[in-house]
Amino acid sequence: MPRTPYVAANWKMHKTVAETEAFLGEVLPKLPDGPEVVVCPPYPSLARAVELCGDRVAVAAQNMHEEDSGAFTGEVSAPMLLELGVKAVILGHSERREHFGETDDALARKLVAARDRGLQPILCVGENLMEREGDQTEAKLEAQLSEDLGQLPDDRLGEIVIAYEPIWAIGTGRTASTDQAQDAIAFIRRRIAARSADAADSVRILYGGSVKPDNAAELISQSDVDGALVGGASLDPGDFLAIVEAAGGA
Ligand code: PEP
Repeated sequence: MPRTPYVAANWKMHKTVAETEAFLGEVLPKLPDGPEVVVCPPYPSLARAVELCGDRVAVAAQNMHEEDSGAFTGEVSAPMLLELGVKAVILGHSERREHFGETDDALARKLVAARDRGLQPILCVGENLMEREGDQTEAKLEAQLSEDLGQLPDDRLGEIVIAYEPIWAIGTGRTASTDQAQDAIAFIRRRIAARSADAADSVRILYGGSVKPDNAAELISQSDVDGALVGGASLDPGDFLAIVEAAGGA
């Protein structure tokens, strides 16, 4: 079964509610059919984004806590996101791992909590420049996948989305080559296949790292690359639409 291309816009800490409305007002009427499209705004814009997106576009959060409630100041939980109509959640983005001390141990619990509550996890994995240059890319991916997905049952792995995001390519304008993206994503798929062949066939694995309108089609056309997690270029309606179009044709 062919996998539906998946394009997610990670806005990070950008866009107020008014800016979210303006972006969606421009993008939604022009969105091409085909790819599954997800927008990931900051928390304050989630409810309005859900209202505006309707059924065509899913709304995802950029993080969540693994507990349903508790003394965790500044955190939000899966039930809180679900109440707003949020459908998915980015987990393990390298910026959260690097700046906020997100651990693989916590991520393993977050993956289970998201899945059990009915939020689709978008798990980010990827190596830094030193690891890439030291030929440690596969070892790093292997370690992250085995820890982060360690508590999910094998037969549920096909329901998640994984984003391969080499840290050296995020927000740097430096993109992985098509071969680097394809090879890393094929490796991730093989790791999933080692646990479940069915899951490996259905799991969507995205590339993320300086995806732009002019490189999206080539990256996404690689046989194992099922779409893109887009940061900077997803802030501009025209650029984001062009990337969604590229994913539809790839
Ligand atoms: C990201 O934040 O997930 C990302 C890939 O950012 P950028 O597209 O700006 O590199």
